[in-house]
Amino acid sequence: MNNSIPFIDMKVGIAEIRTELISAFERVLDSGTLIQGQEVESFEAEFATACGVKHAIGVSNGLDALTLSLIAAGIQPGDEVLVPGQTFIATWLAVSHSGATPVGVDVAPGTWAIDPTLIERHITNRTRAIIPVHLFGHAADMDAIRRIADAHDLFVLEDAAQAHGALYKGRPVGSLGHAAGFSFYPTKNLGAFGDAGAVTTDDDALAARLRSLRNYGSTRKYYHDQIGYNARLDEIQAAFLRIRLRHLLKEVDQRRKAAAFYSECLTGISDIETPLEIDWCSHAYHLYVIQSDRRDALSQFLLQADVKSLIHYPAIPSRTPAYASTSASDDVPVATRMAERSLSLPLWPEISRAQIEQVSQLIANFCRKS
Ligand SMILES: *Cc1c(COP(=O)(O)O)cnc(C)c1O
Repeated sequence: MNNSIPFIDMKVGIAEIRTELISAFERVLDSGTLIQGQEVESFEAEFATACGVKHAIGVSNGLDALTLSLIAAGIQPGDEVLVPGQTFIATWLAVSHSGATPVGVDVAPGTWAIDPTLIERHITNRTRAIIPVHLFGHAADMDAIRRIADAHDLFVLEDAAQAHGALYKGRPVGSLGHAAGFSFYPTKNLGAFGDAGAVTTDDDALAARLRSLRNYGSTRKYYHDQIGYNARLDEIQAAFLRIRLRHLLKEVDQRRKAAAFYSECLTGISDIETPLEIDWCSHAYHLYVIQSDRRDALSQFLLQADVKSLIHYPAIPSRTPAYASTSASDDVPVATRMAERSLSLPLWPEISRAQIEQVSQLIANFCRKS
């Protein structure tokens, strides 16, 4: 009676809000405005409130949110930016696109975010910024990071692309650095129906530069103050995002309950480690990631039973061909081990307890047999 289980199933969640989505779509059609109109403005205000900040600036995707934030903060060629040794590649790409050099710092076991105790040894007279990533939905230790950044006058940019709805000591991610970059790629905790992103910040001047940068460096049509980009958020995506935002906290809560049930079902299986819950973090469970020495065999075993798992991420950025010819250090043992051992299990807000039991039972069978 094994049923196939996808890695993620978005159909149920979308069906639940179908009528709301269609009326949002019709509202945009009827408005006659498709770029930079009322929907974007309203979404920006609503998302800023959700994150507890003054400004949200809608942009085209998460990579642009990070890249434009660095450029708006004045990061330029010759500068160095500290990034985690393991993250989705876009964190590193944003630094490269700003012209600066990414410098990998190892991550801390458990949070999988940049290890605050290792930051200072990587700071040189060229270091200008640091990008903590709230990987998998687990907040980085922001107080420790801010203390070091303040002492060295570094710009702190949160990469919150996987952490919509996560809290750090009760405060929402997106409000913990000088700015934060979000992605609304469809499978993220808050997903659009295509590519979309946003930057959040309390800094008025930075927000103004970002609004100009995303729109050809212009605040007044055909007058250009800086060398800008076309990196805007579409009205239609903003209209959809306003609806999904209303369901975000409920869905994050469903993710937390599913994760708690996984951890309950998986306790006592000695060959795997389940995700850590550190008391200062309210984990948003974008991904439920276990660790196993026999990760590849386990993933194959699940696949044979028609259960899809994924690896986030099989190679650390400094060992990808994209960065192979650079001088990026790959002396990041925790990140390296994590790339060898991480396995993400099926998770979406509406995943059923029966599905979680089925996956967990297969993992127990695999570990017993071998
Ligand atoms: C998804 C993601 C990004 C990039 O977002 P896009 O919208 O896909 O460009 C950046 N950082 C992390 C950690 C991500 O997971």
